[in-house]
Order: sequence, then structure tokens, then C-alpha cells
Amino acid sequence: MTFLEKQTDPTTPMHWNGDMQADYFYSNGVAGDKFFKHLMKKDTFLASECPKCGVIFIPPRLYCEDCFCDIPDENWMEVKSQGIIRANTTAMIDAHGDPLEEPVIMALIDIDETDGAMLGRVKTEILDMDLCGLTVKAVLRPKNEREGTMKDILYYEPY
Ligand SMILES: [Zn+2]
Repeated sequence: MTFLEKQTDPTTPMHWNGDMQADYFYSNGVAGDKFFKHLMKKDTFLASECPKCGVIFIPPRLYCEDCFCDIPDENWMEVKSQGIIRANTTAMIDAHGDPLEEPVIMALIDIDETDGAMLGRVKTEILDMDLCGLTVKAVLRPKNEREGTMKDILYYEPY
């Protein structure tokens, strides 16, 4: 059996001899795909609102995590790609422990008009401080360079 063959009998265990090469693909899912396709064309974010309890999700969801009801297409909306920093941290070293050329600020940003938040990099001259409450807006790649990924959001900056 090779890695590319699919298991059709769940009662038969699978095994491989030797090395196994695996590729991992992360799927954005249906809601994430819709969010990023929108972001490729617009400078706003997409959110979705539960028709029952009114919670506005960002990143958008196809169903409400509280009510377990579907969120129909008509409950999707554009919101500004800006918000208020809820929490932040400043990295001085990279994942290997090597010093970064310049500190990197990561923040959890409550997105305006929604009940959700986005994680993102913040560019500001204010380093290693509590930035909670700072209003920031997303700086996006030029539209002709967007790929439909998180990398399209370059960073957030104060406004
Ligand atoms: Zn709900």
C-alpha cells in the first residue's frame, strides 16, 4: 500500500514500510474561503451575524457556536478592517531563539462592528508597552498582489 491509496475498509489497519513523506494542507474551510476571496477584491473584512442571538462573528462562521443555527448568506456583511487592540506582546527573538532585526508586535484586535477579533502584527514606534485600547487599521497588500491568505494583511497601524 502506498501513502496515496485510500483506506476503504475501516476494519483493516493500514501500515507503511520505510519512510513516509507527508504533505500537509491547511484548508480555510467554506467560511474562510469566502472571507479571503472577499479580501482579494476589497479593503474590508467579511463578518457573519447569527440570525438568532445577533452575535457578529469575525472571522465569519457558517453557524453560530452558541445557538448551533445556520448563518445564511444574507447575514454576511462587510465591516471596516480596523479595530481596537485587546492584548499585545512584543517578540525580540525568532522561533529559533535568534535575535530579530527589529522587534515584532503581535496583537489581538477587536474588530469594529463585530463581536470577534483578529490576530495580527502591529507596526508602531511604541515598543514593549501595553497597547491595549489603541485603535488600529489594517494595511493590506496592493490588490494585484493579494493571494487570498492571511499574508494579504501586512500589518495593522495606529490611526
Ligand atoms: Zn447565535
